[in-house]
Amino acid sequence: MEIVPGLRSIRLLGSKAYLVLGDETTLVDAGLRGSGQLLRRYLEGLGRSPRDVKRIVCTHGHPDHIGGVREIAAMTGAEVLMHEADVQRLRMGMREALRALRPWAFVAAVTRGPEDARPLADGAILPGLGGLEVVHTPGHTPGSVCLYSPTHRLVIVGDVLQVIRGALSLPSLVFTEDMALARRSVGRLAELDVRTICFAHYATWRDGGGEALRALAERERATNGFAARSESTSPERVSGRRPRDKEARG
Ligand SMILES: [Zn+2]
Ligand SMILES: [Zn+2]
Repeated sequence: MEIVPGLRSIRLLGSKAYLVLGDETTLVDAGLRGSGQLLRRYLEGLGRSPRDVKRIVCTHGHPDHIGGVREIAAMTGAEVLMHEADVQRLRMGMREALRALRPWAFVAAVTRGPEDARPLADGAILPGLGGLEVVHTPGHTPGSVCLYSPTHRLVIVGDVLQVIRGALSLPSLVFTEDMALARRSVGRLAELDVRTICFAHYATWRDGGGEALRALAERERATNGFAARSESTSPERVSGRRPRDKEARG
């Protein structure tokens, strides 16, 4: 579905990806393994070919975002871009994961990264949507990035944010490596001029994204005790509620 002119969300296996259309088409995230055919059909429906995709940006190295990256890179011939910290993280072996004994470590140990990824640096500007700025937002993973279009006041956040019961929230407790860092990253996003937030697993937050981000950052600063609270019992998810029925339309 079209989010703004030049940006479409596509439902791949396991997560939503985004297509930034223009002279050079960029795919943001690649879904689980097996997502290639879904992408091919979607592109054909737009009258485009897989070969039009020039780059694949990985928001982070989790399998629901990069599982399909090898097959899609092979199908499109596109270059793959990922933050160096997640390239490193994916080198984690099972022995290290057993030492860390955390869910994210096991995920990293069993996830196959892209064959060949070019590093994606904070502040880099990618083509499309009037210029798409890479914002390094570590925490969920060390190399998580968001893509920000000042022109459209829009940010693609991967798994850096969630929507829980209609409220903008910090990322998943289970799969996030460093929640303190994730909180700081939300603080950074809250400084951007944003209207629209595009998630990997939730319906698009169409309006008031900046207000919701600032409210979340403010709440986390005030309590600063997120880790001690249970995600599911947190009582005051105050900011920017939106209708829940949008979930299925993303
Ligand atoms: Zn995800
Ligand atoms: Zn993730």
